[in-house]
Amino acid sequence: MIQITMPLNMLGTVYREIRQSLVDMGEMFLLLDQPAEVENKPGARRIEVSGGEVVLDDVHFSYDPEREILKGVSLRVAPGQKVALVGSSGSGKSTIGRLLFRFYDVSGGAIRIDGQDLRDVTQDSLHDVIGVVPQDTVLFNDTVGYNIAYGREHATPEEITGAAQAAQIHDFIMSLPEGYETKVGERGLKLSGGEKQRVGIARTLLKNPPILLLDEATSALDTDTEREIQSALNRAGEGRTVLTIAHRLSTIADADRIVVLEKGLVVEEGTHADLLARNGRYAALWARQSAEAEEAA
Ligand code: ADP
Ligand code: MG
Repeated sequence: MIQITMPLNMLGTVYREIRQSLVDMGEMFLLLDQPAEVENKPGARRIEVSGGEVVLDDVHFSYDPEREILKGVSLRVAPGQKVALVGSSGSGKSTIGRLLFRFYDVSGGAIRIDGQDLRDVTQDSLHDVIGVVPQDTVLFNDTVGYNIAYGREHATPEEITGAAQAAQIHDFIMSLPEGYETKVGERGLKLSGGEKQRVGIARTLLKNPPILLLDEATSALDTDTEREIQSALNRAGEGRTVLTIAHRLSTIADADRIVVLEKGLVVEEGTHADLLARNGRYAALWARQSAEAEEAA
């Protein structure tokens, strides 16, 4: 018990000053090792988001100079559009997510939100407008209300219940003996994976971000949990620009547009139906995952 809670508490202290969304990336261990290479440039302004258009314009990127990971990626997500990024493992999907959140700067080209180059705006303001839904939500030994409001001390009860409703966890919470005051976590009520994740979605929605970035869990969830989460995410995405980094194609078949990445390049894009008809990379990925799903069943 002590062995587990100690390091988490330490991390909590280290990260108290850092935006919650960073912690939610589920990459805090990785981040701890990373030098703070991205800083606000002198005179950086707060980003101003109206529609939430996201543009990648001929983006090049490499973690180390010998190996280019993104080799000129261009894509546009129109305000309010739902775009899914797919491709085999290692094709650069999560890297695009990290660049959008500006963990790193592009090495060529540009990323713009509503026309503003990410390098010209402050990190704080950028992280305020992009909501990241974590693959794994850390619950604190406190009330479920506290867990939703975590990182937003000034949220009103109405804002908290509003976020919970949008994340489709409000009715569940109201069914608990003490509602929003129910203690959860290791020493309280244990929530299922799907419930925990919906608390995480509510936590993200509390900041009402115009842009959502979803990096899907790689591990297969059971069908019921997946359906619950998918339904909550669909609701959460209403009226927002959504970029989903997808590993399982079944969850993104209804996206406005699917972009297929291969070895750091966009090789195909279109709707699910377009891409199946084209019978190319996406159709091959789809056939492979369908066969795997059948085998598992
Ligand atoms: P995907 O999400 O599509 O599976 P990633 O964007 O995570 O792919 O990774 C793309 C490539 O970048 C992979 O070859 C991966 O090994 C490499 N990579 C990812 N993160 C790092 C890192 N921090 N340092 C060096 N290489 C990395
Ligand atoms: Mg990935």
